[in-house]
Amino acid sequence: FSTAAAVEEHITPPVDVQHTQLLINGQFVDAASGKTFPTLDPRTGDVIACVAEGDAEDINRAVAAARKAFDEGPWPRMTAYERSRILLRFADLMEKHNDEIAALETWDNGKPYEQSANIEVPMLIRLMRYYAGWADKIHGLVVPADGPHHVQVLHEPIGVVGQIIPWNFPLLMFGWKIGPALACGNTIVLKTAEQTPLSALYVSKLLHEAGLPEGVLNIISGFGPTAGAALASHMEVDKLAFTGSTPTGKIILELASRSNLKPVTLELGGKSPMIIMDDADVDQAVELAHFALFFNQGQCCCAGSRTFVHERVYDEFVEKAKARALKRIVGDPFRQGVEQGPQIDEDQFRKILGYIKSGTDSGATLIAGGDRLGSKGYFIQPTVFADVKDEMKIAREEIFGPVQSILKFSDLNEVIRRANASHYGLAAGIFSNNMDTVNTLMRALRAGSVFVNCFDVFDAAIPFGGYKMSGHGRDKGMDSLKNYSQIKAVVTALKNPAW
Ligand code: ADP
Repeated sequence: FSTAAAVEEHITPPVDVQHTQLLINGQFVDAASGKTFPTLDPRTGDVIACVAEGDAEDINRAVAAARKAFDEGPWPRMTAYERSRILLRFADLMEKHNDEIAALETWDNGKPYEQSANIEVPMLIRLMRYYAGWADKIHGLVVPADGPHHVQVLHEPIGVVGQIIPWNFPLLMFGWKIGPALACGNTIVLKTAEQTPLSALYVSKLLHEAGLPEGVLNIISGFGPTAGAALASHMEVDKLAFTGSTPTGKIILELASRSNLKPVTLELGGKSPMIIMDDADVDQAVELAHFALFFNQGQCCCAGSRTFVHERVYDEFVEKAKARALKRIVGDPFRQGVEQGPQIDEDQFRKILGYIKSGTDSGATLIAGGDRLGSKGYFIQPTVFADVKDEMKIAREEIFGPVQSILKFSDLNEVIRRANASHYGLAAGIFSNNMDTVNTLMRALRAGSVFVNCFDVFDAAIPFGGYKMSGHGRDKGMDSLKNYSQIKAVVTALKNPAW
C-alpha cells in the first residue's frame, strides 16, 4: 500500500454531508455575515463542503441562546435523572449511526476509517454513557462547623461554558468537553476546529433528537482569531475549556483574564517520553513505541515523541523500529487495513516536512522515510530518526506528525532527568517488567498520564491533562466535573445548637 499509487487511488466516502450551518438555539442557521469557508479532504486537498463561517456576531447570538437556556430554560432545572436519560438516548442514537458518523470523521480528518468506526465513535458513545451515569451523582456535602452553624456545600453548574476544540480527534474532543459540562447542568457554546467542522454538527443534531432542549448546546464553525477569540473574551461566558497548542492556550488565558476572569482549563501540547528499559522484549517494545508515536498520523498531543532506549538494547531496537516503520501501511483511509492516512492539512504537512529537514540538518540519522508520499494530498512517509540528541529541535518541539525520534540512554537517573527536562508534561510511557524500575519511573516522571507497558489508553473514567506547559485541569474521569461545577457554601445560624 505504501506507494505513491496507493495514496492516490481514492474510495468514495460512504456518507453525504448533511449539516454545514451553525447550530444556534436548536436551529441550523447561516452565519450572520453570510460567509462560508471550505472544509477540505486531506487525501486530495479538494473541497468536501462549504461551511458557515461563524465570527464574533454569531458567538454573540450563540452565547445569548446559551445564557437564556441557562437562566430560564429547563436544562439546569430538570431532574438530573432526566438529563442523564437524554445523554443515554444520545448514545443509543449514535450507536445506530456509528458508520455514517465514522465516515464523516474520516473524510474530514483523514484518519483510517477502521479507527473512526471501531475506536473514536465507540469511545464517544462510551463517554456519553459514563457522564450520563454521573449526572445524578453530583452532589455537595454537609461539613462540621466550629460555631452554632449548619454548613452545607452545594455543587451548582457554572453557567454558560465556552469550549474550543482541535482537529486531531474531532469527536473525542467534542465528547471530552460536552460530557462533563452537560452532566453538571451547564449550557454550552462550542467552537469546532476550522479543519474539521462536520462530525460535531452531525452528532449534535442527534443530541437534539434525543431531547436536548434548545440553546443548551450551540455549535459554531469558524476560525480561531475571530470566532475562538470572541468566545474566549465574551463577558457572558462563565467558563472556558480549550484543547489545542500551547501558544494558542496562552492567548486564550490572556483573553479570559482581560475580559471577565472566567476560569480556564487548558489541555495543550506535549513532548512525551517513551522509555524502553534494558529488560525489554525488544519486539514488543518496538511495537508499543511505534504505536505511541504513529497512532493517528502522529497527531496526538500525548504522542510518545521522544523514544528513549537503553544502550543495551539500542542497536537492536533501532533496526527493528526502522523495519516496523517501513512496513507501516499508508494509504486511502477508507481502504481496509490502512494504518496511516494523510496529515490534516497543508500547514501541518509543511511544518512536519520542515521538522524532518531540521532533523537531518542537525545531524540525527534518518533511518526510514523522510519525505512526502505521492504528489497529491498530505501523506507523509513514516519517518524514523536515530541518534537524536536532547538539544535538537526535533527532540524539543512538538512535531505532531509521523516522525519518531530515538535517543540513547544508559542509566535510570539519567533518563529521569532527561525525560523531565521539557516544558511539557502531558504523558510518559515506560516499558519494563522490573517492578522497582517501573515504580521509580512512574513516581519520578512529571506527567499527567504515565502509561506502563501500554500507551494511549483513553477510558472515559481516566483523568487526562498536563503538568507544566501542557496545561491545567483534567478532561475525563470524575476530576473533569470540577471544571464545570461552582461551589457554594451555605452557612445557617442555628437557633438551637443542641440539635
Ligand atoms: P493547531 O495549531 O493544531 O491548529 P490551535 O491551538 O491553533 O492548534 O487550534 C486549536 C483550536 O483553537 C482551534 O479550534 C482553533 O480555531 C482555535 N484557535 C486558534 N487560534 C485561536 C485564538 N487566537 N483564539 C481562540 N481560539 C483559537
